[in-house]
Amino acid sequence: MARDFLKGVADSYDVIVIGSGLGGLTAANQLAKAGRSVLVLEHHYQYGGLATWFKRKGGHIFDISLHGFPSGMKKSCRKYWTQEIADKIVPLKDLRFINPQFDIKTSFDKEDFTRLLVEEFGIEQEQVFAFYAHLKGMNFYDEDTRTTRELFEEFFPGRDDVHRLLMEAIAYSNGSTLDDPAITYGIVFSNFMNDGVYIFHGGSDTIVGMMVDEAVKNGVEIRKRCLVEEILTGPEGVRGVRVNGREIACKAVISNANIKNTVGELLSPEAVSGDYRKEVEAVRVSQSSCQVYLGIREGETLPDVGDLIFTSEAEHFSSEELLDFETSSKTFSIYYPEMRAHRPTERYAVVASMNANWSDWAGLTDEAYAAHKERLIESALKSFEKFVPEIRSKVDWVEAATPRTMKRYVRHEGGTSFGTKFEGLAASMKLPEEVPGLYHAGSVGIIMSGWLGTMNYGVIVANKVMSALAQRLATA
Ligand SMILES: Cc1cc2nc3c(=O)[nH]c(=O)nc-3n(C[C@H](O)[C@H](O)[C@H](O)COP(=O)(O)OP(=O)(O)OC[C@H]3O[C@@H](n4cnc5c(N)ncnc54)[C@H](O)[C@@H]3O)c2cc1C
Repeated sequence: MARDFLKGVADSYDVIVIGSGLGGLTAANQLAKAGRSVLVLEHHYQYGGLATWFKRKGGHIFDISLHGFPSGMKKSCRKYWTQEIADKIVPLKDLRFINPQFDIKTSFDKEDFTRLLVEEFGIEQEQVFAFYAHLKGMNFYDEDTRTTRELFEEFFPGRDDVHRLLMEAIAYSNGSTLDDPAITYGIVFSNFMNDGVYIFHGGSDTIVGMMVDEAVKNGVEIRKRCLVEEILTGPEGVRGVRVNGREIACKAVISNANIKNTVGELLSPEAVSGDYRKEVEAVRVSQSSCQVYLGIREGETLPDVGDLIFTSEAEHFSSEELLDFETSSKTFSIYYPEMRAHRPTERYAVVASMNANWSDWAGLTDEAYAAHKERLIESALKSFEKFVPEIRSKVDWVEAATPRTMKRYVRHEGGTSFGTKFEGLAASMKLPEEVPGLYHAGSVGIIMSGWLGTMNYGVIVANKVMSALAQRLATA
C-alpha cells in the first residue's frame, strides 16, 4: 500500500503554506510563533525549495543556490529565526572578476569597491559617492522608470568596463538585466555594499535542517512529498487545499509556489477576475540557470583560488551574452573544507553557474539534451583549468543541471531561478484582494528574490495574514 505522507495531519488549520522554500518556511515560522496553527506542504522529497543540496556517492555534497547573499541575512536570521543560525553566517573574502576587460580581486564592500573604481578604473571619487547616494535614496514607491542601463550611462557614460563591474555579480545574484528597472539593481547593490558578500557555514542542508527543527519546535506541522493539487475557494474566499487527493480546511493559504503557477494551475479559472488572470499571464518569469558540479576526490585538495570567480571570455558585458545558450560567462563557487567543517574528512567542491533561458533547453530531444549537458561539463572543466590546471585528475564526480532540472524539482514555470520580473510583485501583492485569504510569498519582482529578499517577503506576508486573521476574529 502507498505510504500516507499526510498521516497524523489534522483536518483543519489556521494557515496552510504551499511549499517549503525560504519564503514559505519563514512565513510559517512567524505565524506559528504568533500562536497560529500552521501546516506546510512540500511536494519535493526534501525541504528548502531552491535553497537545496544533493549528495552523491564518494561522499559529495553539492549546494545549488548557496553562493552568496548580503549581510542583511545575518540580521534577518537572528530576528526571524535563531541566533544560532545567524552565527553561522560568515563573510566571503575573495571575489574575483576575470574577463577581457579586467582581472581584479575584491571583498565587494563599499570601501574596496570605491578603491577599485577610483584607483583601477580612474573614476572621480565624488562621482562614485554621488552614485552610492543616488542608489541609497531610491525608493520602491518612486515612479522612476529608468532602467539600470540608463542609470549606469548617467553616472558613468561610455564606460562599459565600469558597467560590467557594477552589473556582473548582481546579474548572478538576482537575475536582473541592464533593461530591468534601476530600483531592482539599486536595492540589491546597496545591500551588498553595506558589508560585502556572506555565506552560511554548514551548507544548505544545515541551515534548512535548523530552520525546519525550529519551525517544528514552534508548532509548525510540516510534510514532504505532498503535492497541493488545488487551492479550494468558496464565496467567502479560501477554504482549504486538496493535497495528495485529500481536502484539508484552513482560514488562509500562503502559496510559496511561483505566482504564475499559483494562479494558472492551483486556482480554478473562475476564482479570480478575468483582468487579474490576464495580468498574471502577462507577468514574465525571470531567467533560469545551468550548473556544473565538480566533486573533488577524498584526500585531494585545491589551492586557495578565491571564493567566487566571475569569469567570461566575452569582450564586452551584455545581459544577452550572459543568457546565451553557449555563453562563455560562468561563476565558480569554490567550497573549501571550512564550509562543512563538521564533516569527518576535509572535502572540496566546485560549482559552476551559468544563467540560462528555459526556451533553449525545453524542446531538446533526449540525445541533444544529453549532448549539451556534456558540452556544459567540458566547458566548465576547461574554464576551471585556468585556475587549477590539474582539475581533471582531482575530480571524481561531474554532473550538470539545466533549467529542466530546476523545473522538475520546484515546479516553477520556465524553471525560473529568481521568480518573476518586476511586474510580478504587484500581482503577488494583489492576490488577497482577488481571493480573500489567499496570499503569495516567494521569489517575485526581483527585489523580493534571492535568499534574503524571499525570507523578508515571507515575514511581510505573514504579518499581513496575522492582521487579516485577527480582524476576522474581531468581526466574528
Ligand atoms: C542555481 C541558483 C543559484 C542561486 N544563487 C543564489 C545566491 O547565490 N544567492 C541568493 O540569495 N539567491 C540565489 N538563488 C535564488 C534563491 O535560491 C531563491 O530566490 C530562493 O531560494 C527562493 O525561495 P522561495 O521562497 O521563493 O521558494 P522556492 O525555493 O522557489 O521554493 C518553492 C517551493 O514550493 C514547492 N512547491 C511548488 N509547487 C508546489 C505544490 N503544488 N505543492 C507543494 N509544494 C510546491 C517547491 O517544491 C519548492 O520547494 C539561486 C537560485 C538558483 C536556482
